[in-house]
Amino acid sequence: MPAPASIEEKTGTLTLQGTSARYFANSETAERMAKLYAAYLDANFGLKLQKGTMQDAQVIFSDDDHLPKEGYQLTITNRKAVLQGHEAGLFYGLQTLQQVSRNKTKLGLVLPMVTIKDEPRFGYRGVMLDVGRYYLPVTYIKQYIDVIASLKLNRFHWHLTEDQGWRIEIKKYPRLTTVGSQRKETNKGHLSENKFDGKPHGGFYTQEEVKDIVAYAAERFVTVVPEIEMPGHATAALASYPQLGCTGGPYEVSTKWGVHKEVFCAGNDETFTFLEDVLTEILPLFPSQYIHIGGDECPKDRWKQCPKCQARIKALGLKDEHELQSYFIGRIEKFLNAKGRKIIGWDEILEGGLAPDATVMSWRGEAGGKEAARQRHDVIMTPNTYLYLDYYQGAPSSNHSPSADTCRWTKYTNTNHCPKTSRRKNKNTSSAYRATCGPSIFPPAPFRITSPSPRPGAGGNHMEPEREKGLRRLPQAYARRIVRSRKTRR
Ligand SMILES: [Zn+2]
Repeated sequence: MPAPASIEEKTGTLTLQGTSARYFANSETAERMAKLYAAYLDANFGLKLQKGTMQDAQVIFSDDDHLPKEGYQLTITNRKAVLQGHEAGLFYGLQTLQQVSRNKTKLGLVLPMVTIKDEPRFGYRGVMLDVGRYYLPVTYIKQYIDVIASLKLNRFHWHLTEDQGWRIEIKKYPRLTTVGSQRKETNKGHLSENKFDGKPHGGFYTQEEVKDIVAYAAERFVTVVPEIEMPGHATAALASYPQLGCTGGPYEVSTKWGVHKEVFCAGNDETFTFLEDVLTEILPLFPSQYIHIGGDECPKDRWKQCPKCQARIKALGLKDEHELQSYFIGRIEKFLNAKGRKIIGWDEILEGGLAPDATVMSWRGEAGGKEAARQRHDVIMTPNTYLYLDYYQGAPSSNHSPSADTCRWTKYTNTNHCPKTSRRKNKNTSSAYRATCGPSIFPPAPFRITSPSPRPGAGGNHMEPEREKGLRRLPQAYARRIVRSRKTRR
């Protein structure tokens, strides 16, 4: 839970009583926030907050664009609570107001007297969800967005294509979903056990569902950043259209985790036609300026053997297959730039030369991010060593349930980049394992999202590292209540 930039606690309280509590809002957005707050109070405490006037209201929602972008101020005295902010700022202030609205007594709901000023430290604050490995239903995605929004994060990075499944409808290429969204079974237990569950798994989002999700997120000031993986992690696409691979197949949607050798052929122009067609259908669905194109874990085995790929290397005078990958990403970047969009890629896109305007997502530790920053590129830090919240928090044998105490971000905040902030010490610094290797010993995904202290929140203190005091320690049921109150409203 990110702590606010400044918090000033005072002695005293404000009590909102039964049906006499009133609110006032001075704009359409402010009115929307007031209604969300009223629904929250009703769902959690049975308190009916009614519309009132500037004079008789105890809770005032004030649209005020003088505050910093995404910033807000919440002032609670013993007479009223005043929330000031604009657009996202007002929404984030509402989240904080809800967080302090938790103490129900016989007299009513008791709020502490406090002044909170807040604004985010980083412009891009996001969480990724990988539905390529496991399809998750629309209701679940919305719940996930609720949690993201309640934590004041503003990007939902939606990993939509993988070796194990293609999850988004592309009208020009129907086999991506009829074939690519289904696999016959799934790796069970840890990868090394080489066991399978024997159960088919599949699913995809129609373009109508995607539009609905993007709009749902936008209402909560969350931008959806889609990820379409290339040139690696492409087995599901190749199973659908084998002519796009170097060997021509046949391929099968992968049933196993890991890095796969079958990748898009970089020497075949049909590959680029296909990817451009896919992106042409993707762009109208996602207003996000940034489109994530993957770029990670692309073994060069097939390219080394492929006459078409080798001919491309020769024709362009490239040094090796790494430069071929760089050409691949650069060509896609050019296409997307021409449509007014920018690319994000995993840090492997540094290899063989970085595409001119690319933003690097540094996942293999921090080195890639530092190098990209040195080359004056924008960077999003997502080091797996600290921020892969689906990793085990203990040895796999410990059956350690994932929860909020991700030891490695605590460790990360102790480094020079982010001053030490956490009092909580966790001795467990065992190396990381991919959670995707062992879903059978993890609680089901929906539980992980709504369980006490939701996983995306575990990185919160890292994202606002120098802030410690104040509201960081909240009742653990908070996230559940948010989700429940939203559910009630739907
Ligand atoms: Zn090839």
